[in-house]
Amino acid sequence: MPTILVVEDEPEIVELLRSYLERDGHRVLTAADGEAAIREVEAATPDLVVLDLMLPRLDGWEVSRRIRALMPVPIIMLTARDREEDKIRGLELGADDYVTKPFSPREVVARVRAVLRRNRHEGRDALVRGDLIVDFRGQEARRDDAPCRLTHTEWRLLEVLASHPGQVFTRLQLIDQIYGYSFEGFERTVDAHIKNLRQKIEPNPREPRYVLTVYGAGYKFAPTTNG
Ligand code: CA
Repeated sequence: MPTILVVEDEPEIVELLRSYLERDGHRVLTAADGEAAIREVEAATPDLVVLDLMLPRLDGWEVSRRIRALMPVPIIMLTARDREEDKIRGLELGADDYVTKPFSPREVVARVRAVLRRNRHEGRDALVRGDLIVDFRGQEARRDDAPCRLTHTEWRLLEVLASHPGQVFTRLQLIDQIYGYSFEGFERTVDAHIKNLRQKIEPNPREPRYVLTVYGAGYKFAPTTNG
């Protein structure tokens, strides 16, 4: 059962959202201010946060920034202000969706479902292998807690492979996944990108531990931690 944290200081709205979300099969936690929200995120690691921007003390922007620094949990922002610059700012700060008040609770439930569905990488927001974290939500990889600074193509390769650990992808399949279509003759460019990717994520690129070569077939992400 997905856990949803509702961050809002107006009790009527909290109870309205709680009843609709619970009826839709979610477990609902609530927080009435930003500091309580951050404590709940740390303690309960919710699957999604519904965050009102108008909060006492810490405002929603600051709360969203601090939640993002803690973990890659999806955030749906609520606001009374139907202003284009707020939407843009919210999306730039990593909000996954945006609902303006007054809203229909059914609409919020539908958005919650859609965002949860979109964020499913075999049920994972992130994958951890040894010292490597593949953060699907934040769209980055970290090693020993430092960002790996991947190019877009390197990230997409890693994302595709790590979304299905143990599954072998041919070079053509990888090109198709990354560029949206496949073309022959460019398979060797995959090897070049894999080589660069390994330089950034592997402790020892010459003996890869995460992105493995399957001779005569292609590549796969290590199915389990090996060492
Ligand atoms: Ca509020």
